[in-house]
Amino acid sequence: MCRESPLPPIPTAMSIGQSIPPTAATPEEAAPVAATPRPKRGVPSGLWLRCDECGETVFRKEVEQLMSVCPVCGRHMYLSARDRVKFVLDEGTFDEWDADLMPADPLKFADKKPYAERVVAEQKRTGLNDAALTGAGMIRGRRVAFGVTDSAFIMGSMGSVVGERLTRLVERATEQNLPVVIVSGSGGGARMHEGILSLMQMAKVSAALARYGEAGGLFISVLTNPTMGGVAASFASLGDLVFAEPKALIGFAGPRTIKATLRTELPEGFQTSEFLLEHGYIDRIVRRSDLKSEIARTIDYCGK
Ligand SMILES: [Zn+2]
Repeated sequence: MCRESPLPPIPTAMSIGQSIPPTAATPEEAAPVAATPRPKRGVPSGLWLRCDECGETVFRKEVEQLMSVCPVCGRHMYLSARDRVKFVLDEGTFDEWDADLMPADPLKFADKKPYAERVVAEQKRTGLNDAALTGAGMIRGRRVAFGVTDSAFIMGSMGSVVGERLTRLVERATEQNLPVVIVSGSGGGARMHEGILSLMQMAKVSAALARYGEAGGLFISVLTNPTMGGVAASFASLGDLVFAEPKALIGFAGPRTIKATLRTELPEGFQTSEFLLEHGYIDRIVRRSDLKSEIARTIDYCGK
């Protein structure tokens, strides 16, 4: 790593590595603390960035070469859906499905700005139509149905497009007898802007996974930072095997809500991969650099 050039001032708008703090794990909880504008993720700028975990200033190129993992402390930082496809699937094998599905605005919902405008802005910023990317591809020569949600697109929340794309992914995998791999990065759970249409996606995708399970399919769910709300409460927790990246925030409601509801002290780090592994909620913690091999090994082990 070259440190000869003078260190430029650290910009406050860190793009990758920005994590949603535990106190703002759901949109409902995020609302009261949203007074100070939070820098947007996913827009790289500058040569250096500071790791949220260890506070070290690290060379951006080096972080990128490590798939957005901090070279000092190993923190797994934000990774876009497209990068996930690049790092998990064999090069050039991704065949995207249902790319034409676009979000609608049946409720004409508006909070700080109309939902329709928000969607267009998010599409421009992330280059995605919605928070999920789905399709078929190869993992070390094994064909899989692959889905990923991107926490940069309205917190990776599950609206009707995310739900529909994932459901179709699972249904096609059932028809074609393919293993399903879904990588979740969703801080928002269900997407409030679509009301009940968003909530019903939880049941829809879960029902598709149940039929897939009955047909003998293998579903590997990979949880990344953050996986919360309605995503954690539906498909993300339904894997035959549930993997998680190290130190990912995983849970349903944010700790503040739980604390206020239960009026009790919560165990230290109870919504992390490590705690959840110890308590049987997830099966294995897999580092990003090992994920591809680990999935391939699992598919072989399960004879799929
Ligand atoms: Zn670090």
